[in-house]
Amino acid sequence: MAEPVAVDVVVVGAGTAGLAACRTLAAAGLSVAVVEAELAGGAAAYWADIPLDALRLPGEVLLAAQSVPGAQDAVTTTLDAAATLQWRNSLVHHWQDDAAAATLERAGVQLLRGRARITGPRQVSVARLDGGTEVAEAALAVVLATGSAPEPVGEELHSAGAACWGTREALSAATVPHRLVVAGGGPLAAAIAQAYARLGSRVVLAAPDGLLPGWPAPAVELAAASMRADGIQLWRTTGATKATAGGGSLVVELANGHTVDCDALLVDTPRRPLLAGLGLESLEIPSGPGSPGGLRLDALRLDAHGLVQGTDWLYLAGDAAGAGLRSAGSGSTAPGAAGSNTSGSNTAGSSTAGSNTAAFSSTAAADQGRRAAASILAAAGVEDGRASPARGAAGPALAPRMVYTDPLIAAVGPSLEQARHQGLDPTVLLNRVSSADATPARRAGGHADVFSQLLVDPDTSRLLGATFAGPDAAALAQLAALAITARLPAGALLGAAPPPGD
Ligand SMILES: Cc1cc2nc3c(=O)[nH]c(=O)nc-3n(C[C@H](O)[C@H](O)[C@H](O)COP(=O)(O)OP(=O)(O)OC[C@H]3O[C@@H](n4cnc5c(N)ncnc54)[C@H](O)[C@@H]3O)c2cc1C
Repeated sequence: MAEPVAVDVVVVGAGTAGLAACRTLAAAGLSVAVVEAELAGGAAAYWADIPLDALRLPGEVLLAAQSVPGAQDAVTTTLDAAATLQWRNSLVHHWQDDAAAATLERAGVQLLRGRARITGPRQVSVARLDGGTEVAEAALAVVLATGSAPEPVGEELHSAGAACWGTREALSAATVPHRLVVAGGGPLAAAIAQAYARLGSRVVLAAPDGLLPGWPAPAVELAAASMRADGIQLWRTTGATKATAGGGSLVVELANGHTVDCDALLVDTPRRPLLAGLGLESLEIPSGPGSPGGLRLDALRLDAHGLVQGTDWLYLAGDAAGAGLRSAGSGSTAPGAAGSNTSGSNTAGSSTAGSNTAAFSSTAAADQGRRAAASILAAAGVEDGRASPARGAAGPALAPRMVYTDPLIAAVGPSLEQARHQGLDPTVLLNRVSSADATPARRAGGHADVFSQLLVDPDTSRLLGATFAGPDAAALAQLAALAITARLPAGALLGAAPPPGD
């Protein structure tokens, strides 16, 4: 076997979190190797954020243009699905990572292609793609930024074979299916269902737990109305129970007794941090209470920088750390848990796909990668070349949670349910504006109806959380995040950015 690769830090996973950690560490002068089993760039670049944007944006833009007299006659009435898929393919670099690999090389980061496994403190074994093995040894730390994976699909649906998609297959599909059944009503299921409906699929969405569970009902109803207008048939209290392939298509059975013929079935299952198979179980790491006889991955405790408690060298970042570090103000959290007084009470290992609790996000992943790197640099006494005084003083990013339907829904801080679970009794300020009152600019968004919900602490008047649905939802959620982080009274936000319709 070749000599071990000896570096200061080994990062496992070259996705959003891993790359952010690599950039920060390399910029500060540390030697870094990153191990990647698939494509440098990770989920966001090839199977999540970017292809989802590519598939949904043409429909959104077309609808916006069609809603404004003067523009509507200048556009065609249907989308060009083939051109949309081509655009998606070019945005994901045809699933080639040469550009990301070159960026790593320019930054001085060594890319080791293969599957990593921890074999001891600061030691990682890499099963290379060519069948060989190499070892990477870190003088300082190992950052696990291995992402998340969907829970397996039950056999009754999975037996449908290749036409049974997860989100990854749905966002990399080579053609638009004529008929698509979406099993699940979470944010990703809803957004993908709508994107395909606008690309020409006849879509049936079967959501046993309802559409967008946990999101404020008025926001959900705006999304539901828009999805229905796109021709989607919504079953909001029934799920898909069985799929049978035959004759080039699928028959999907629903719990309510109906059957639906389709060409593809998207099953959206909850995502979990991807920590299994990494060799963590063999490490002697004291984990949380209730696991005396060995390491339970969901009981790993993390500090606010992702350092696994009981070690001084192992960090988790990004989806692998769950939403635990999203806004961890103090103390330690478990992967998958929302560990702060602002982000809710999601328990370790609980669903993060279907509810408005603690969705994974690229913004949070990048923030966590940088945080892990900053902690490693601080422990080594190395100046963080990228740290600005402002960034150092700030807490972890309060990343908005988004539902990429049209209209967009964006939330920040705890949901009402979470706030109550935390023992808070917030005042709820609701604002819903119907199309009759909409300004021309809002009509141009294609969705004149808008909604906002602000949660305000009655004792301090501070803004605790906010949800917006409508054309400006993302920008308003960013402003609300700022107001929450700065502990501003809700009135300050309302003065600076009146909610939609005011
Ligand atoms: C369908 C979908 C759409 C989404 N859309 C958005 C969006 O629009 N906006 C947003 O903010 N967020 C979105 N998200 C969430 C966002 O994509 C993730 O939170 C983010 O990509 C996580 O980054 P990461 O670096 O933690 O993980 P990843 O990007 O998944 O990177 C992990 C990397 O580790 C590698 N790896 C895993 N195990 C090993 C191993 N043993 N050895 C070597 N390498 C390994 C993997 O191959 C992968 O490249 C979406 C998620 C999904 C599923």
